[in-house]
Amino acid sequence: MLTAQSEAETYVEAATARRGEAYRCRQCGAPVTFKPGRVRTAHFAHRPDAACAFGGPMSAAHLAAQNQIAAALRARGLEVELEAPLTGALGDRRIDVLTWPPGRPAARIAIEVQASEIGAAMIEARTASYQAMGVAPLWLRLLEFSAFRTVQTLPFRGSVWIEGYRAKAWERWAHDHLGGRLWFMDAGTGDVWRGLFVPAHRYRERGLLRAAAGEAPARGADWTVVSQWVDLDLDGPYSLNDLRIGQGAAGGADGRPRRFAWFVPAGEEDVKPPFPPPVRVEFRNERVGQSRDLLALVDGRWIPAISEGARSDWRMERRPPRPVLRPL
Ligand SMILES: [Zn+2]
Repeated sequence: MLTAQSEAETYVEAATARRGEAYRCRQCGAPVTFKPGRVRTAHFAHRPDAACAFGGPMSAAHLAAQNQIAAALRARGLEVELEAPLTGALGDRRIDVLTWPPGRPAARIAIEVQASEIGAAMIEARTASYQAMGVAPLWLRLLEFSAFRTVQTLPFRGSVWIEGYRAKAWERWAHDHLGGRLWFMDAGTGDVWRGLFVPAHRYRERGLLRAAAGEAPARGADWTVVSQWVDLDLDGPYSLNDLRIGQGAAGGADGRPRRFAWFVPAGEEDVKPPFPPPVRVEFRNERVGQSRDLLALVDGRWIPAISEGARSDWRMERRPPRPVLRPL
């Protein structure tokens, strides 16, 4: 855990805690041990026999991300509380980073750093729970970007294009809930990226087609939609210090307004959801199968960024060449 209480104060962050001072858990009041950070982020820990659920093991990357976000928000003049308690429909919850403009606690935003799987049902319930209390959730996917096996740059747009991203159910839910956006944080660099999920397609060859008189037989091929993964269009990287927080409300199923929050990069206008997609996939019917164009929105116009043909070679059985893209 990143926060505790001392004899004098009810809220102490590990980053400003002192050795030798006595600290207690903000949840259960039991004594906790201060672990000053050298390699790891400074934090507090329960004694081994503690039964308290608060402050369980968190990855070093998760703790570091919380501190980085808090520092960036404070630099913008916003109030910040780490591990903020919130009692709602799901019982007591601790919010990774709760932030609000000075003097306006009603405009609270819960930034949740999510590195592990939580399931679509759980994120939906937690989102609804926060919103019912008037808190706007902002889900941030913490990911080690160096784990991406292939990274391409999308021509014209300059964004990063990752094929075959195995988006988890909760990520898809959060993406759709925010009108087609999911914010990612690179656990390696601390930079933030804006992610868009584009339906993925797989090139599939079909059987031999009957040849017309005098022609060699052709092998048909086309693209089929793949549901197991998506293509990920990443805009960025943005420094946390260059991001503002946008927020708005939309009517829920019960007609009550629900608050949302998102990041707005410096120099961009604050567009509200549903966000217009910056890339899309279109298909062209060809004589054999289909080819696909990846269109990118550049200066208000859709420009083909990648074209991948499905037309088979009439003489040889080989797949169409992959587009040549600049490496990152
Ligand atoms: Zn405790």
